[in-house]
Amino acid sequence: MDYYSTNKQTPLAGLQEAVVKGLAADKGLFMPERIPVLPDTFFEQIDRLSFHEIACEVAHAFFGEDIEPEILSQIVRDTLNFDTPVVEVSENIYALELFHGPTLAFKDVGARFMARVLGYFIRKQGLKEVNVLVATSGDTGSAVANGFLGVEGIHVYVLYPKGKVSTIQESQFTTLGKNITALEIDGTFDDCQALVKSAFMDKALNEKMLLTSANSINVARFLPQSFYYFHAYAQLLRKNEYLRRNNEVVFCVPSGNFGNLTAGLIAQQMGLPVKRFIAANNKNDIFLQYLLTGQYNPRPSVQTLANAMDVGDPSNFVRILDLYHHNHETITQIISGFSCDDDTIRETVKTCYELTGYLLDPHGACGYLALLRSLQPNETGVFLETAHPAKFKDTIDRIIGKSIEIPEKLQVFMKGKKQSIELSNDFQQFKDFILLHKKIQYK
Ligand SMILES: *Cc1c(COP(=O)(O)O)cnc(C)c1O
Repeated sequence: MDYYSTNKQTPLAGLQEAVVKGLAADKGLFMPERIPVLPDTFFEQIDRLSFHEIACEVAHAFFGEDIEPEILSQIVRDTLNFDTPVVEVSENIYALELFHGPTLAFKDVGARFMARVLGYFIRKQGLKEVNVLVATSGDTGSAVANGFLGVEGIHVYVLYPKGKVSTIQESQFTTLGKNITALEIDGTFDDCQALVKSAFMDKALNEKMLLTSANSINVARFLPQSFYYFHAYAQLLRKNEYLRRNNEVVFCVPSGNFGNLTAGLIAQQMGLPVKRFIAANNKNDIFLQYLLTGQYNPRPSVQTLANAMDVGDPSNFVRILDLYHHNHETITQIISGFSCDDDTIRETVKTCYELTGYLLDPHGACGYLALLRSLQPNETGVFLETAHPAKFKDTIDRIIGKSIEIPEKLQVFMKGKKQSIELSNDFQQFKDFILLHKKIQYK
C-alpha cells in the first residue's frame, strides 16, 4: 500500500518510507492511498474472533502487501500482549479500557506496533542508527520509550515540557537509560512539538542523521489504534443483545492530537458500524470551535488536569479534513465536540466514583461526561479510557479524598533514578546537542 501526503505536493511513498520519514517532504501527513473495506463475513463473525484474530485482519488490510503474513501476525501478537476490555460503567455507557499495557496508557498499542515495524525494516534493509524524536505531553514519551527500549539500531530522544508532566509519567521515560535519552525542555508541549518539527525540516541535520518521528503522526502508530475499535465492537455484541439488533454505537474519544479519533474514523470507513463519534476535549477545545464555526484557529495550549490533551494545534486535524475532503458539514454530521473544564472533570471523577464505583482518570472523565450528556435512548456509548487513574495519582487522590493504590507496573518505574538533560526551547541549542550526542554515542 502506498501513502500520499495530505499536502499532495510529494510523490506517493511506500510503507517503509512513510514509517521511517514520519512526515512527508511537503510537511503533510501520510495517509493510506485507499481505505480497505473489510468483508461482510468478517463482521458477521466478529463476536467469535479473538483480539489477535481481529487485529490481524485489520493489520493485513493495511500492511499485508508490505510485511509477510507470519511476521505481521507476530508483530501483532508482540504488540498486543495485553487486553483492551470493555467494562460497563453506567446504563448503556461502557469504558473501553486501554490502560492494561506496560505504561498503562493507550499509546502502548501504537508505540509497540511502530517499534516492531521499524525494527522489521531496519533488519530487512540493514539500516543503521535510526533516531526517533518524540515530543510528549506525558504519555507518548513513556509509551514510545518503553516500546522502543533495547531495540537495536534505534535511539530515542524524548522531549518533554519541564514541570508540566506528572512525576509518575516522568519516571516512565527518564529512568530507562540504554537507547533512551530524556530531554527536559524549558517550555510548553507545543514548544517540544515545534522543536521536533523544525528538526525534520532542517536540511543539515537530516544529512547527518536519519531522523524519524514516533508522535501519532506516524502511520505505524496511528493506524494500529483502529484495532481496538473493532475489538470493542465485538465485545459489545457479546455483552449487549439490544445492540445486536440496533447497531447504534457511539464512540467518544478524549482527544489531544486526534490520532486516536482518526483511527476510529478509519475503522468506520473500513466498515465498522459506528453511528457517530464524539471528540471530548478539556479547555483546549480548538476542535469544538472548528465544528461550531467552520474556522480552525490554533492557539497556545493551556494546562489542565487532563494534561495529555493539552494541545493547542492538534497535528492530526489535517487528516480529519483530508478524510472528509475538507467538507465541514460532513465532519459535523459524523463527529460532535465537547469541552470540559477542570472543575467539571473533578466533579465527574468524584460523582462517577461515588455512584458507580468506577474510577475514571481525568481524560476518561471528559469522555464519560460527554456521553452522559448526549447519549440518545437508542444508542450505546463507549468512551475510550485512555489511561489508568493511578498515572494521575495526586489529582485523583485529592478529588476522591483517599489514596489510591499504584499498580505494580508503575511502582517499578518510580524506583528508578531520573536521568534527563535540560535544554531551552531554542532550536539551535537542541540541534547542537543532538549532533554532539550522536558523535559521542557512535564514535
Ligand atoms: C495522548 C493521550 C490522549 C490524546 O490522544 P490523541 O490521540 O493525541 O488525541 C488522551 N488521553 C491520554 C491519557 C493520552 O495519553
